[in-house]
Amino acid sequence: MALFADPDKKSNMIFLGGEPTLHPDLPFAIKKAKEFGYFVTVDSNGYLFNDLLARTTPELLDFLSFSLDGPDAETNDPIRGEGVFDTCVANIKRAVSSGYSVSVIYTVSKKNLSSLSRMIPLLQKLKVHKFFIQVLGLRGKSAKADNEEVMQVSRQQWLDTVPEVARLASEKGIHVTYPKVFLASGEKFECAGVVAENFFVFPNGRVYQCPLCEDHPINAYVIENNRLVKNDGLREDSFFRLNIEEGCVMNKLLQPDTIEYDNKGVPLHRISCCLLKQEIG
Ligand code: SF4
Repeated sequence: MALFADPDKKSNMIFLGGEPTLHPDLPFAIKKAKEFGYFVTVDSNGYLFNDLLARTTPELLDFLSFSLDGPDAETNDPIRGEGVFDTCVANIKRAVSSGYSVSVIYTVSKKNLSSLSRMIPLLQKLKVHKFFIQVLGLRGKSAKADNEEVMQVSRQQWLDTVPEVARLASEKGIHVTYPKVFLASGEKFECAGVVAENFFVFPNGRVYQCPLCEDHPINAYVIENNRLVKNDGLREDSFFRLNIEEGCVMNKLLQPDTIEYDNKGVPLHRISCCLLKQEIG
């Protein structure tokens, strides 16, 4: 925390996992982060282990984010686990009534895209005014299930649904944040590794700037002996400034199957940086 704290900048500290509430010292970490001047968020699966609500306060924890992938147990639980919907919703209610600022994260896949609009009445009922819509990552096995059926939604499915649901939610007073994913022609591409300052810090000391690189040993930095050390050689940041027709260079390198081309080999659309979001509401 001390390595990244800067009194002249407004910085966010997000604890995520795995499941950060599994760590019994999380309330201590939240308190320390606040002392360093961070705006503090915890992203949870909704179980709130170790009695988090009672062991920290809304003054220290600026936002508590719950992952919910459906507006009912029938949609959510096949994705997140049996009984998760009821537990998560009960804890959202407890957090709201205890005075915490609560947000919900919904990860869109083929399994729950059609249920996205039904989140609006649920969020209203729960008095949640901040909603993050994410796209299912393509890395590892997450995009495949059910005998290798790809769970990632297509460009058309995403564009037909997500911006409209975001607009409808904002009309109800819900602030919605979602990644652009696909850039329209003429839209400017920007790599967050160049235009923003994000650091993803792992328990093994690796520090990444690009979330797509996290499974690979190409981290730009490492924490050694409590110092932030720049790594030498060909690293993630060697690629951020490359200007390619496909947009995000790491997407092209690591998950080229996500890009569609015309018969002349020209990409049909550019992939936006997954870190740069749209906000509405
Ligand atoms: S996801 Fe792509 S655009 Fe975003 S930081 Fe990584 S390389 Fe850059």
